[in-house]
Amino acid sequence: MKIIRSIQDMQSYTMRLQMQGQSIGFVPTMGALHEGHRSLVRRARDENDIVVVSIFVNPLQFGPKEDYKRYPRRFAQDEALLVKDHVDVLFAPGADAIYPQGYTTVVDVPALTRTLCGPFRRGHFQGVATVVAKLFEIVQPTRAYFGEKDYQQIRVIARMIDDLAMPVRLVACSTVREKDGLACSSRNRYLSRKEREEAIKLYQALYLGRELIDQKIMLNPQKLVRRLMDVLKTIPHGRVDYLSVVDPVTLEPMKRIHRPALLAGAIWIGKTRLIDNVIIP
Ligand code: AMP
Repeated sequence: MKIIRSIQDMQSYTMRLQMQGQSIGFVPTMGALHEGHRSLVRRARDENDIVVVSIFVNPLQFGPKEDYKRYPRRFAQDEALLVKDHVDVLFAPGADAIYPQGYTTVVDVPALTRTLCGPFRRGHFQGVATVVAKLFEIVQPTRAYFGEKDYQQIRVIARMIDDLAMPVRLVACSTVREKDGLACSSRNRYLSRKEREEAIKLYQALYLGRELIDQKIMLNPQKLVRRLMDVLKTIPHGRVDYLSVVDPVTLEPMKRIHRPALLAGAIWIGKTRLIDNVIIP
């Protein structure tokens, strides 16, 4: 596996591949890789000639009080995993390569960031869209792989790709979960043993919600959310940012639940913020 750190080296590498007519599958990550990331890598491996994975902890998508500094960085372990998964290139630029002195351009997708995580993480999706746009410019992928665990992120990037006519195909991949249902996340490492036990309640609440909708037992969103909040309230150190039923395309809250629907939530357990969602097709 080749490790590339400079933008120029990455661009000349992909330009060569494109001239040879090779397809490039791209998996952008912030590292601290887990089975969720690996499922994206495997899918990219299956569908492309060349697989590029980036590791970049993007300062622009963290708020001033968020966990940028303590975000887990485990480059050596990540590198070993990517070698095992037959990745061709690991692109790992530094923050000053991506955002050199004087950097000012941003990409904003306002309509899709007014709900769900948007109001709780001001500027987050602008940071995400900006870095993904820049990474696309550098890597020039044929296909880019994203996880449905970050559902709102997928919608924002899909909109950006359409709006800016970017020549890349977005591939959405299902959420990978631990045995008990907790969505794999780099932030799960922050959880103490006790918190890890409590974290499962988010998925349990979403799962219950899906059952209640599936069986048409509860189609009033307010009532449904109240019922699910009863589950989340049993977490001793938990705090709910939101739990919402939204349209999976516009991400607007539903007045009465119809299908398809997205049930999504974000909770704090101690100092760790976790998100998860279920799609009701
Ligand atoms: P991150 O490193 O958290 O920025 O995530 C990089 C990519 O992996 C994003 O597209 C995420 O949506 C995806 N991802 C993270 N966790 C999971 C998971 N549990 N299942 C599937 N994809 C995931």
